[in-house]
Amino acid sequence: MLGVRMNNLRKFIDIGANLTDPMYQGIYYGIKKHQPDLDKVLERSWNNNLSKIIITAGNIAESEHALEIARTDERLFSTVGCHPTRCHEFESCGDPEEYLKSLSDLALKNKDKIVAIGEMGLDYNRLQFCSKDVQKKYFEMQLSLCSTLKLPMFLHCRNASEDFVRILRKHKDILTAGVVHSFDGNPEEANSILQMGLYIGINGCSLKTEENLFAVTTIPLDRLMIETDCPWCEIRTSHASAKDVITTFPSIKKENWQPDRMVKGRNEPCTIVQILEVLARIRDEEEEYLCNQIYKNTMKVFFPHEL
Ligand SMILES: [Zn+2]
Repeated sequence: MLGVRMNNLRKFIDIGANLTDPMYQGIYYGIKKHQPDLDKVLERSWNNNLSKIIITAGNIAESEHALEIARTDERLFSTVGCHPTRCHEFESCGDPEEYLKSLSDLALKNKDKIVAIGEMGLDYNRLQFCSKDVQKKYFEMQLSLCSTLKLPMFLHCRNASEDFVRILRKHKDILTAGVVHSFDGNPEEANSILQMGLYIGINGCSLKTEENLFAVTTIPLDRLMIETDCPWCEIRTSHASAKDVITTFPSIKKENWQPDRMVKGRNEPCTIVQILEVLARIRDEEEEYLCNQIYKNTMKVFFPHEL
């Protein structure tokens, strides 16, 4: 009985939910498999102790879409920004300054809903979409946006730690608060991020291997945040973290979709509890305590006016 009550006291904030993804409209890789069910996904989230969700945007169109979704519920918020693999859009639109201004205007006009600039950063795993030079140039441009708008940074870094840290250090005088989401680096990389005063976001992709698990144990409790990065980055049975998951959600194939079931292979904010369960076990910390501290960290960076 006590356990149930304790669970109900938990408050989660998913700092990275890609709710603009077509999968929540029932569309998988361009093919319609079932009816839109974002409302059901959100219902499951609120029923599983999510108190807020930050919708991740990855370009200007998505920033507008994310905001539209955020406007439907007072617990939803969103980011405005351009993902490293989409930074060619700054140039293909014909006027990089104008692209930046569109991002800026959107953030300025919607201050009640936009809680960060992002996701932005560097992704050297997917250079086929955007070259290193283009990524670096527009990452720096977006950093300046954070400082003028006084908005936190929602950062993405894949296989680019050296350039990523160098760019952030170069701009250290203008940096706002921020989080490096979906962290999958080693303890040294975690340390460079922490030394710049930044927070680290953990999801299922951060917990795949024993090395990942060890790296996560080196992050101080007052710098941790959690996220799902849904519909991606779920914890899979093949991951090193799977043994520490307690809460499971029944799911069915998308072809057999039902309104009250999760879809196999499509992650949702409600699974954020699994990230907490894994962290509590690998870090040997008490779940409620950890949950509360992570909540405080998240509020401090993204919702300081509510404290
Ligand atoms: Zn990302």
